[in-house]
Amino acid sequence: MSSSDQALQALVDDLRAKEKLTPKERAEIPQQPMPEQDPDVRRRNVKEVPLGYGPLQAMAESYRCLQCKNAPCVKGCPVGIDIPAFVTAISEGDFRKAINTIRDKNCLPAVTGRVCPQEVQCQSKCTLGKMKKDVFQSVSIGRLERFVADWEREEGGMDLPDIPPKTGKRVAVVGAGPAGLTVAGDLIRLGHEVTVFEAFHKGGGVLVYGIPEFRLPKAIVQKEVDLLEKMGVVFEYNHVIGQTISVDELLTEEGFQAVFVGTGAGLPYFMNIPGEQFIGVYSANEYLTRANLMGAFDFPNNDTPTVRSKRVAVLGGGNVAMDAARTALRLGAEHVYLVYRRSAEEMPARSEEIHHAKQEGVEFMMLCAPKAITGTKDGHVQQLELIRMSLGEPDAGGRRRPIPVEGSEFSLPVDTVIEAIGNGPNPLVPDTTDDLDVTARGNIVADSDTAKTSKEGVFAGGDIVLGAATVILAMGEGKKAAAAIHDYLTTGEW
Ligand code: FAD
Ligand code: SF4
Repeated sequence: MSSSDQALQALVDDLRAKEKLTPKERAEIPQQPMPEQDPDVRRRNVKEVPLGYGPLQAMAESYRCLQCKNAPCVKGCPVGIDIPAFVTAISEGDFRKAINTIRDKNCLPAVTGRVCPQEVQCQSKCTLGKMKKDVFQSVSIGRLERFVADWEREEGGMDLPDIPPKTGKRVAVVGAGPAGLTVAGDLIRLGHEVTVFEAFHKGGGVLVYGIPEFRLPKAIVQKEVDLLEKMGVVFEYNHVIGQTISVDELLTEEGFQAVFVGTGAGLPYFMNIPGEQFIGVYSANEYLTRANLMGAFDFPNNDTPTVRSKRVAVLGGGNVAMDAARTALRLGAEHVYLVYRRSAEEMPARSEEIHHAKQEGVEFMMLCAPKAITGTKDGHVQQLELIRMSLGEPDAGGRRRPIPVEGSEFSLPVDTVIEAIGNGPNPLVPDTTDDLDVTARGNIVADSDTAKTSKEGVFAGGDIVLGAATVILAMGEGKKAAAAIHDYLTTGEW
C-alpha cells in the first residue's frame, strides 16, 4: 500500500469510528481529487482522461455530505436521484445499495456520472459548495455516481431486474440514444414488447457517435445496451425510419400500438461562408462520427477515411467544439486552433472541458470570426480567413454581442476546418409522418409531461423535441414518455 493510500485508509477508519460527525467536521474533510492521465501522454491516446475514484477515495468523499434535510441537490437533478441516500450508502461501504438507489431513477449511471454537467445541476445546489462559496468544492456527486456504476460493472455484477409476464402490447422506439434506451428499459420492465429501430449499426446515439472514447468509453455504453437486450428488448439496427419503413406503417402494418420518436438533433448547421466545399471541411458531427463510431482513431487497424491533418481550425465554443479539437489532437494534428467569436467568459462549454483542452495543447483564438475558407488548386483547404471581434452590448440571451473590428482581417494557414456551431433536428421522421406537428425550427411538438405528440399513439422526447440538450434531460423525457405510453396501452385513452 502506498503512503497516500495508507493516509486515506487512516482517514476513512477515523471517520467510520466516529459515532456522529458534525456538519463542521464533515465540511473540513478535504475534497478527493480525481486522478487523471498526464496531459502530455493522453493528448496522443484515446484512453479515458479521468481514471475514477477507488473505494477509499469514494468513501472519504462521501463523508463530506452534510445530509441536508431538504437535500437541495436532489432538486438540481433532472431525474430526482435520492443523492443523500446513495452517498450515505457509499460511506457505509454498501455499494450495492448505492447503485440500486441511483438505478431507481437513472438507467445509465456510468454514462451520466461521466458526462452530466453536475456543476450546473446537482452540485450547483449543494449546501457544501455554497458554504465554501465555490461550486467546485461541492460534494463530488458525479464522481461518486461514476464510482458505484463502475463498481457494479466491474465487480458487483449487473443484475437483471425481474420482468413481469408479457402484456401483449408492442411498442416501437425510433432511435437508440439515451431517450430511446430509457423508454425501452422502462417499458420492458412493465411487461410490454419493445423493438428499437436504429439507423446506425450500434446503439447509444450521441453516446457512441458523438462523445469521444476519452470521455466515455464505448464499452460502457455497449454494456448498457447488452443489458437491455438480455431483458428482452429487440434492436433492429441499420433501419432508417422514414426510409426503410415509416412511423405510420409501424402503427398500421407492423402492429405496434405505440411509437416513441427519439431521433435526436443530428443535423449539423454550417456557417455558410465561402469555401465550405473544399476537401478538409467537416461538420463536427461527421468528424466525430468517423473518429468514434467508425474507429478512425485506431488507424491503421480501422481504415476509416479521415484526413490526417497537421493544422486544424475548430469553429465554435461549446462542448462539441472541445470534443472535436481534442479528437483532432489525438488523430495526430500538430496545431489545433479553437476559433471563437466571443471571449472565453462567454464560451458555453463546460469549464472542465475547456481546462482539459488547454492542458492538452489546444490553442484558443478568442474574439475571432471566420469569413471564408480558401483552397489549393486541387481543392484542399489551405487557409481560414478571419476577422477580429470586440464585444458590444449584451444581446437578448444576455451574452455580449461580437462586433467586427474594421480592417483587422488576417489569414490562418490550416488544412482542416471543423464546424461545431450547433445541430438541428433530423427532418426525416417529421417529413414522412402524417399529422405530426413541428415547431418553426423543425422540432417535434410534444407535451412536456406526457411526451404525447399531435398524432395519436406517437410520443416523442429528447433532443428531437428539446433541441440539442443533455443526456440526462433526454433520459428524463424518456422516463415521462414511458409512463405515459404505459398509461395509454393499459387504458386505451389518448
Ligand atoms: P441522440 O443521442 O441523438 O440519439 C438519437 C438516435 O436516433 C441516434 O442513434 C440516431 O442514429 C437515431 N436516429 C436518428 N434518425 C433516425 C431514423 N430516422 N431512424 C432510426 N434511427 C434514427 N450531453 C451531456 O449531457 N454531456 C455531454 O458531455 C455531452 N457532450 C456531447 C458531445 C457531442 C459531440 C454531442 C453531439 C452532444 C453532446 N451532448 C452532451 C448532448 C447529448 O449527447 C444529447 O443531448 C443526447 O444524446 C440526446 O439524446 P437523444 O436520445 O434525444 O438523441
Ligand atoms: Fe449532501 Fe450537498 Fe446534497 Fe446537502 S446538498 S445532501 S451536502 S450532496
